[in-house]
Amino acid sequence: METHRNILIYGEIMGDRLSSHTTQVMQIGLELSKHLSQELKVLFLGGQFLKTSEEAYGYGAHQVYMASDPLLENFMTDSYLQAMEQVVRDLRPAIVLFGHNENTASLAPRLAFRLRTGVTLDCVELKIDSASGLLEQVKPVFGGKAHAHYCCSGIFPQIASVREGAFDPADFDSSQRGEVSKIRFSLDRSGIRTRFLGKKKDESHALAMKLASADIVVCGGRGLGREEGVDLIKETAYLLDGAIAGSRPAVDNGWIPNSLQVGLTGKKVNPHLYIAVGISGALQHLAGCRKARTIVAINSDETAPIFKLSHFGVVGDYKEILKGFNEEVKRIKE
Ligand code: FAD
Repeated sequence: METHRNILIYGEIMGDRLSSHTTQVMQIGLELSKHLSQELKVLFLGGQFLKTSEEAYGYGAHQVYMASDPLLENFMTDSYLQAMEQVVRDLRPAIVLFGHNENTASLAPRLAFRLRTGVTLDCVELKIDSASGLLEQVKPVFGGKAHAHYCCSGIFPQIASVREGAFDPADFDSSQRGEVSKIRFSLDRSGIRTRFLGKKKDESHALAMKLASADIVVCGGRGLGREEGVDLIKETAYLLDGAIAGSRPAVDNGWIPNSLQVGLTGKKVNPHLYIAVGISGALQHLAGCRKARTIVAINSDETAPIFKLSHFGVVGDYKEILKGFNEEVKRIKE
């Protein structure tokens, strides 16, 4: 539809960098923009990270926008929704893409409702349907056993959120630079029903950030048996400069923070090395780690399904194996 053109990405910043999830969404955004011969635009809300948002040019953006207001400095659905609605009505993109997370799961459907369009959350594949030229949005259904394909026919913009780890990050080219355009909009303060009170440091958030970009992940499952088992995988991760993670039972038991769950309903990781400790290898878990370059499984049951997918397997009690392994790594390091 000619009144709607280009692809708009909702950009997010973590620490002092573009979030790795945003760079993944940019990768698929770039592919779509090339296919459609349209521009890739990235929008940041907040205003306080002007310099960091410029990085989006290095990842391939044609235009970067910033919407600033003190009420956008911390995520609140009401204020973000108002700003997004105004920007999207103004820029009239054909496609709006989000990285799928807790915040965008609340923002994207509300935006779609306001714009009277559709939305598909948590997509693992996006492509242009050659017959209609529309965005084909693919997401896992029935616990990952099937994929559903959706199109938003004839209504624009087409809105989708993208699962973390579904795409590789876009390449960064530091020679690509540009200026961030400030966007005009106004917030109706009476329509903002929540108030931001303050921030509390959350250890698990830093660990989740580390997990998202780690080359080595040590993931513990129910086979850890107790919380103390986590200390061992923490030590292994520390020695290898890697990150820890957990299967759903390890999270449900309170051994590993929720934000570090790997799997269908958790994080998707693609490290060079994934060490699965006391994990049986259920499909729903493998959905989160099957892209790892090398998987090493430690399991006391030699018939555990994880051994079918892993590149290397060690049969035995993880406590003995990891203790020995950690000692050997320490010895080599010394
Ligand atoms: P188990 O299957 O109980 O396996 C424990 C393993 O530890 C066993 O193989 C055992 O042999 C081994 N073991 C025991 N003691 C030792 C020892 N001392 N040394 C070495 N090995 C030992 N799961 C996820 O992980 N992530 C998800 O995101 C997720 N999403 C789900 C979504 C849906 C809709 C559903 C239905 C399920 C989901 N699950 C998810 C749950 C999933 O189906 C499995 O139940 C879960 O992954 C099993 O976790 P586990 O391998 O840690 O535990």
